[in-house]
Amino acid sequence: MEYEMPVTGTDIWYYYICPREVWLMKHQIAPDQEDEALELGRFLSETYYQRDKKELSIGHIVIDRIRQEEGELIIGEVKKSSSYSQSARMQLLYYLDTLKRAGIEAKGELLFPKERKKERIEWTEKARSELERAVADIRRIARMPVPPPPKKISFCGKCAYREYCWAEE
Ligand code: SF4
Repeated sequence: MEYEMPVTGTDIWYYYICPREVWLMKHQIAPDQEDEALELGRFLSETYYQRDKKELSIGHIVIDRIRQEEGELIIGEVKKSSSYSQSARMQLLYYLDTLKRAGIEAKGELLFPKERKKERIEWTEKARSELERAVADIRRIARMPVPPPPKKISFCGKCAYREYCWAEE
């Protein structure tokens, strides 16, 4: 059987922001761990919404907030801002799709604690097709011998790889 590279929720999140970042992570190029954006993300997810904290691992994904509400399973994902909400939605849909493939029906909830916002996310057939396309493309990118060239986007300013991509600027 042909080996299929695991794709995580984090891969999905970065894929919708920067394919180069997907390649760098897949090739285990270490970002600057002291980076402020990473620190803030860690702090927020440790500080807020602790009462829902129950971790669930399925395959290559880890869902860190899960609860039941009126008989429904709700999985939550905390993000520090809604600026990259498309990435956040696709990441959560990936979790919902993975659960569905394991026979578990759930709904999703995106939490933006700094903005005191919540968004409900539901699995659809259309989302599954889009995720299948994205997963195939992530695997294609990871197999590339060199990373895709850097493209300046607004995320670069807070990306942990910014020194790596833009050191000469
Ligand atoms: S610095 Fe910009 S181009 Fe480089 S990996 Fe990060 S987001 Fe992508």
